[in-house]
Amino acid sequence: MNTKDELAKAYDPKPVEEKWGRFWLDEGLFTADAKSDKPKFSMVLPPPNVTGILHMGHALCFTLPDIITRWKRMQGHNCLWLPGTDHASIAVHNVIEKSLAEKGLTREKIGREEFLRIAWEWKAKYGGVITSQLKRLGTSLDWSRERFTMDPGFSRAVKQVFVSLYDEGLIYRDYFLVNRCPHCRTVLSDIEIEHKDLKGKLWHIRYAVEGSDESVVVATTRPETMLGDTALAVHPDDVRYAHLHGRRVVLPIQNKSLPVITDERVEREFGTGAVKVTPAHDPVDFELGKKHGLEQVIVIDGEGRMTEAAGPEFAGLDRFAARAKVVEKLRELGALVKIEDHDHAVGHCYRCKSVIEPHLSWQWFVRIKPLADEAIRVVEDGSIKFIPENWSKTYFEWMYNIHDWCISRQLWWGHRIPAWYCRDCGRIMVAMEAPEKCDKCGGPLDQDEDVLDTWFSSGLWPFGTLGWPDETDDLRTFYPTDLMSTGFDIIFFWVARMIMLGLKFRGEIPFRHVFINGLVRDLKRRKMSKSEGNIIDPLEMIEKYGTDALRFTLAALAVPGMDLALSEERTAGYQAFANKIWNASRFVLMNLKSERPEIREDELTLADRWIRSRLSAVTAQLDASLTEYKFYEAADLIYHFVWHEFCDWYIEFAKVGLREGSATTEAVLADALDRILRLLHPFMPFITEEIWQHLPGAGKSIVVAPYPKAEPAWRDEAAEKTIALVQAVITETRTIRAGNRIPPKDKLRLFVRTAGPEETAALESQSAPVRTLAGLSSLEFVAALPADEGLLKGVAGPFEIGLVPDKPADPGAERDRLQKELAKLDAEAAKIERKLENADFVAKAPAAVVEENRTRLGDLRARREKLGQNLARLAPAS
Ligand SMILES: [Zn+2]
Ligand SMILES: [Zn+2]
Repeated sequence: MNTKDELAKAYDPKPVEEKWGRFWLDEGLFTADAKSDKPKFSMVLPPPNVTGILHMGHALCFTLPDIITRWKRMQGHNCLWLPGTDHASIAVHNVIEKSLAEKGLTREKIGREEFLRIAWEWKAKYGGVITSQLKRLGTSLDWSRERFTMDPGFSRAVKQVFVSLYDEGLIYRDYFLVNRCPHCRTVLSDIEIEHKDLKGKLWHIRYAVEGSDESVVVATTRPETMLGDTALAVHPDDVRYAHLHGRRVVLPIQNKSLPVITDERVEREFGTGAVKVTPAHDPVDFELGKKHGLEQVIVIDGEGRMTEAAGPEFAGLDRFAARAKVVEKLRELGALVKIEDHDHAVGHCYRCKSVIEPHLSWQWFVRIKPLADEAIRVVEDGSIKFIPENWSKTYFEWMYNIHDWCISRQLWWGHRIPAWYCRDCGRIMVAMEAPEKCDKCGGPLDQDEDVLDTWFSSGLWPFGTLGWPDETDDLRTFYPTDLMSTGFDIIFFWVARMIMLGLKFRGEIPFRHVFINGLVRDLKRRKMSKSEGNIIDPLEMIEKYGTDALRFTLAALAVPGMDLALSEERTAGYQAFANKIWNASRFVLMNLKSERPEIREDELTLADRWIRSRLSAVTAQLDASLTEYKFYEAADLIYHFVWHEFCDWYIEFAKVGLREGSATTEAVLADALDRILRLLHPFMPFITEEIWQHLPGAGKSIVVAPYPKAEPAWRDEAAEKTIALVQAVITETRTIRAGNRIPPKDKLRLFVRTAGPEETAALESQSAPVRTLAGLSSLEFVAALPADEGLLKGVAGPFEIGLVPDKPADPGAERDRLQKELAKLDAEAAKIERKLENADFVAKAPAAVVEENRTRLGDLRARREKLGQNLARLAPAS
């Protein structure tokens, strides 16, 4: 007796997903063991922002490594996949400051303490949204080890790293020109800036040379910054300006005297070759200013408004309003020579898309070169491997040209910089705990107001989450991790920093493989966006088709190095695959007794030998594909094997064996299904668990069942060859049957013209299944096909075949039917022909659509020809 209840008639994903999702967690099947002596496999989840909502990019980035983890776990590894979320300073600020603004408040009005209280409250309320969505994806994460980048332990790790780097001189504070977003009101690192080409202007402005009638014209893209000019520069070898060396010019509007300096960095080809120098508002000018000891006059503040130094006419104006006013004023003064169109790259904030403002201020920096050198080496020597490989080029390009990293942010939500300033003597103290007073003069201290760049803390994710700075069992067992799956857009933000900080603080790489996901696009390969209205929501797909169908879709589309062209139809197709598996399993389970019979080698049918041979081959191929992260290849293999070999053929063959009462066939069927479920489990975890639990002798959970291994002894070339012949004959017979509308219930007489003696003998040995599966009343092997006019002929592999239905069709009715069908085909073909003759259509329709029509027309013509032949074969109406 089968003690377990029967499989439901149809597969309904929702209750199944809920049941097993809970079961896996309740049983702690994803909980890693730091003391296990099994080989370990570890990963840390790229922590989604606490503000995050699951999108298709996440779904991809989390499904693929889940496939690997589940596969490794079934192979007997002690797997840790550690989850967590990132505090995401800027994103949280944007959310909360927006809601404050609705009440007419700002963060400054409510103060730091109140702001942080609101932020924590917000986090408690909404921070769990993304994690519950992650669970619905079936990710096998160890939730008992969940971390948050601002939890106390992780915060201690962040402080420790800051203090250590400072003590070593690798963190310093400097008055520097940095990028600032006037909207987010914080500075940003170089890579948080997106450069976009904008149509701009080049304003040519005349500066009078002191003590002469002469003047010099300079060109600038930002005339408002001239209010902060402190010099004019020319190239030392530029003969046009040689006579101006050592002279002074007058800054228009401000009427200020400026020196003329010479510097090799001036581009003689830009504009007039003479340039204005604004050290407080341009990165190149900043360098020039430092070199030549120029004054730094700040005329634009951190919010993008003009300062007092810009002069009373401009103070308080927005930078873009000031630009218009400066131009107007220059025109009045006759100092505006001309305005040209000029396209150039302008930096924008990656979060809010505002135009970035260079901003001179005190900030904290990481001296990056010493860290970068090691991080370059471990990728060069192959210790860390990028998949696909070409991403390592992108990594090197950036690492070789890396700049010091500005890590202070003028925000409150985040890790506050552990630095204190003495009010009396200005001394800076950096420490793990707040010092009571200045250790030099005993004066009172103020802590730095800024927090650290979010990427500074997420850079410690692979070891900070495992308990560092304590030497925990977790750290010893699971670091370095094995795989990191992420998007190419955060190779610099995140991957590079994890490598640098991991090497620095653990002396070891943080992960061995970096798998870079493609972008999820729509079927026309457009980016998914709200404005295009082409977003496919993973939760909606799960709701409609089940998690397994979505996971399988993502795996099947994941070709390394390629973007994914996603469509809802594809997911619907894999739902059909899930249903196919379900129905096949129901058949197998209904034919199983409560205990699995033994497989007796001497009782194996040819079909049994064949499916075992194929199973072994597919198992080996699947292993190779997953080892190389070729998810698409693995998905394709298992899909075709299950659908087209196991369901379409083996189950049909097995029916013949079962009818004859073969216990061995019953056992092979059960074993094959068992293996298929285990092979499929990493891709489709829910349906496989549900079915597997119904198999006699199933263990606790498929999650920890052993992953099938290839069985070299099962390889059987002879069986594969013979079955191929059998399949060819049955397929061709079915094709002829369908083409001639012979109902399945009508039996056929089949003649096979003998081919080579080996093939003929092989096919003859399988007469029984051929007769059953092709619906034959007789099967005759003949030296020549009978010369019967009514014989329907075809070719199957090496054999020519001919068949006649037992029950002759009514020629009159058949002729009518065929003629009707012909007329229908002709009408349809004519419609497409007209379309294709229309030059306008061919020119304007997308190439794929035109091609589709051509293919369709070809098909119609081929079908028409076949129908015509069949019609001719019928005795003519007399
Ligand atoms: Zn911004
Ligand atoms: Zn002091």
